This record gives sequence, C-alpha cells and structure tokens, in this order.
Amino acid sequence: MTGLDATSKPLALTTTGVDRAAHHRQDEAWLAAAWSHPTTRVFVVSGGQVLVEETADGRTELVMTPSFDAPETEQHRYFLGIDPDGVRYFALQKDTLPGRMDDVARPAGLREVGGLLSPLEAGLMVHAVALENWQRMHRFCSRCGERTVIAAAGHIRRCPACGAEHYPRTDPAVIMLVTDDEDRALLGRQVHWPEGRFSTLAGFVEPGESIEQAVRREVFEEAGVVVGDVEYVASQPWPFPSSLMLGFMARATKPDIHVDGEEIHEARWFSREDLRAAFESGEVLPPYGISIAARLIEIWYGKPLPRQGTSR
Ligand SMILES: [Zn+2]
Repeated sequence: MTGLDATSKPLALTTTGVDRAAHHRQDEAWLAAAWSHPTTRVFVVSGGQVLVEETADGRTELVMTPSFDAPETEQHRYFLGIDPDGVRYFALQKDTLPGRMDDVARPAGLREVGGLLSPLEAGLMVHAVALENWQRMHRFCSRCGERTVIAAAGHIRRCPACGAEHYPRTDPAVIMLVTDDEDRALLGRQVHWPEGRFSTLAGFVEPGESIEQAVRREVFEEAGVVVGDVEYVASQPWPFPSSLMLGFMARATKPDIHVDGEEIHEARWFSREDLRAAFESGEVLPPYGISIAARLIEIWYGKPLPRQGTSR
C-alpha cells in the first residue's frame, strides 16, 4: 500500500538533478570564477518569491540571467550547485525583486509555482527560499548575541566575536495518513482552515522524541486516535519557513475520535466512496496540489485526487 510508486509522478520539490557541490562553498577563487563564467545563471529571491515567466508553449520558467546582468550584492550571494551540463547556479537575496522592462515576468512563491517549474528549477528555488528564510531569521549569534556574517556561499553564518559557526536549520515535522481496520482514512480540519478543507494530520517532532513517537503523539493529541504500526513513505522540504515534512502511513488500533479543538476543529473517518462523494458534492475540498499531504491521500485513494490546486 505504501511507496510513491503508487502514482507515476515524482513528488514536487524533491527531484532536481543539480549537484550542490558543497566542497566549492568555501573556495573563494573557485566561486569568483564560477560567478563570472558566461554560462552561469543567476536569479533573485526576495521574501520567498522569485520572478517567473510563461513561455509561448505554456510552461512556467524561473527568470534567470547571466551574472553580468544580475543586480550586484556580493554579501547575499548563494551558490546552489552545478547541473549535468556544467551550468553553475547562484541566487541573490535582495530586499525587493528587480523590475523588468517587459511585463512578462511576475513574482511568484513556491506554493504557487513549485509544481509548475521544471524539477531542476523547482529544486533551485526551494534551496534558495530555504536559505533566505534561515538567513533572515538568524542574523545574531545564538551563543553570544553578536551580529553574524554570511560565509560558505550562503550556507554558514559565522560569529566574528566568539567564532561560532551556525548552519542552516531544518525542523522535522511528521505528516501522516492514518487508516483503520476497514481501510478508512482519518482526515482532519485545522481550526484556521476554511469549511470543507480536510487533510492529513501533521505536527512538529519534539526534542528527545523519535519520529515514530511523534506520529503517535500528534495523532492522539489532535484526534484522540491511538496508532500502532507506523511506516515511513517519503519526505518533502517545506521551507515555510524551515520544515522538512516526513510522510508516514499509520494504522489506528483505537479509532474513536476525540478532537483537541485547539489545532484540529473536526476529524472524520472517510472510506474511498465517502471521500469521492464528498469531493463531488463539494462538501470536502481536496488538499493543496504540491504538498506531500495530497500524495499520501492519493496513495491510499488509489488514483489522483479529483482536483489539484496549485496555490498554498
Ligand atoms: Zn558569537
């Protein structure tokens, strides 16, 4: 029942084909040569957004330029990697996206275009957005409070006062589709979600906890359902601002529902037929398109969900 092969398409944001080439990050001479190479491509990231444009044949592409056309900002230059053709990629973090003479390009966020860009471009964007989020929120040394400086082409922040090196943070979160003995799926509606929006349960892993423990704790806290077997399926970077979603299938041993009312407003067991009918009537809205939540539900459902949104 588990495994991403249940549907043919790769999970968004998880395939890129770019070699991150981390061994070059602290080699200033190599980075300078890579930056000025004529085939190098650069894009600007600002507040989680990039510029995209639609091609004549209807594809969505990241707007990238040679480095000599890029706005200068040596301080906030992130080296992202090298593709199989040897093209090097950099992202520039700026306070605003650059203006363009044409009006073909438009700003867009990862939730909107993460599933529309090519896997290579989506991978570059998720890397850049994750780095930007971390850089914005970790400007001061957590050991001594001094302002830190960027190093390693965007992948380290170094403290000039105490010498500490700080690395990009990723927060593990579990997301799980729980089924019962009748192979029904447990879906919940968070308190701030609109009426009809149901999805898998999810939550952050706590300190000193295994991810399997986190799955069982979160399901019990949010829905009152006791979970036994837990099986890992796949992961997805989710830099909003810094999560790594760890996807599971889980089996309930005590299916009685008692929602917590704080995070989850309502939770229900759905058979496939229940869910199909609820989608058709509009009583339940399908989950957002690119998230692993949608994929976990699809794996159980056995076929693509009826409608796939692209935003959020
Ligand atoms: Zn320090």
